[in-house]
Amino acid sequence: MPDDAWLDPHTLAVHADRELADGPGIAPPIHAATSYDRSRQEEFVYRRSEHPTTDRLEAVLGALEGGHAVVLPSGMSAAMLVLRHFRPRRVALPEDLYHGVRALVAEEAAAGAVEIAAADALEDGDLIWIETPSNPRLRVTEIAAISHEAKQRGVTTVVDSTFATPILQKPLALGADVVIHSSTKFIGGHSDAMGGVVVVGAADLADEFRYRRMVDGATPGSLDVWLTLRGVRTLPLRVHRQAETALEVARYLEGRVAKVWYPGLASHPEHAVAQLQMRHFGAILSIELANGAAAEAAVKKLRLFRQATSLGGVESLAEWRRSVNPAAPEGLIRFSIGLEAPGDLMADLAQALDIDPPRP
Ligand code: PLP
Repeated sequence: MPDDAWLDPHTLAVHADRELADGPGIAPPIHAATSYDRSRQEEFVYRRSEHPTTDRLEAVLGALEGGHAVVLPSGMSAAMLVLRHFRPRRVALPEDLYHGVRALVAEEAAAGAVEIAAADALEDGDLIWIETPSNPRLRVTEIAAISHEAKQRGVTTVVDSTFATPILQKPLALGADVVIHSSTKFIGGHSDAMGGVVVVGAADLADEFRYRRMVDGATPGSLDVWLTLRGVRTLPLRVHRQAETALEVARYLEGRVAKVWYPGLASHPEHAVAQLQMRHFGAILSIELANGAAAEAAVKKLRLFRQATSLGGVESLAEWRRSVNPAAPEGLIRFSIGLEAPGDLMADLAQALDIDPPRP
């Protein structure tokens, strides 16, 4: 591959896989085959270990993140691959964290495979898990400081950067060892493809992950990979626009509801850290209303925001988080801001939350 490090992310998203282009089409073909004709070539043998579209998606995601990417069938399988590879004795988890990852580590702990420990109790070979910004309270963790400190103790730092995407935050450049994303969210971007990705700095470590993926049979589906590659072409455009709208919406809601969680607001407890390590503050925000009944009712009154879980697509979503996560604050609504006009979204929020409408 050519050295693309100088290219802008908008260009990388479109061109970083150009050397892997297969066939005459401008768009990549969908390769559904599970086996390859070995009389014609030797590179591709069997679908579980080789797949041309997966290679292309990995080239783009690696270039965007500044490392070597390994694509998986879901964000959770990316998390599992990391745990299985490093086999840490202890794992430190943040207080606010995607509940699926907490459940995964808790199950591993219940089976005696790991221990959940405080960050300052970690030793050589252990692992610290960062999720920043976090789900659902958008807490921000300083990646550089934590990674630096972890390195001194031989502790591996993993960053789930799903909410930031490779466009707004570069954990590897800040010193983290491993980055994961659920590409089901912003990277795919159209709420139609499941996927996960693990990105590391060293090519040989990425190869070890690919070997483990093959052994585990954690093969991403052809259509999911193809759709994700199609989606990632517009990732930089989408994320910037969605994040700008989210900032506008967060500013509008602040002072009109009991609490707004958005790292771009000066009132956010880690606003200064977010300014340091992010290019923008992302397209997810949460609010807290007085109680669960108020939150559930408000979500049902929304007309443009769809009432659904997940995030990162072109359409705005709202979710009363307690309905899927019993540990979430009772009155919390999480919003994923899409590509609609900001004024239309704010007008929808005004009617659903019964607050004064935005000024024209
Ligand atoms: N990490 C974060 C921050 C998430 O929000 C999610 C899903 O919501 C995941 C990981 C898991 O991803 P997936 O649903 O693709 O398995």
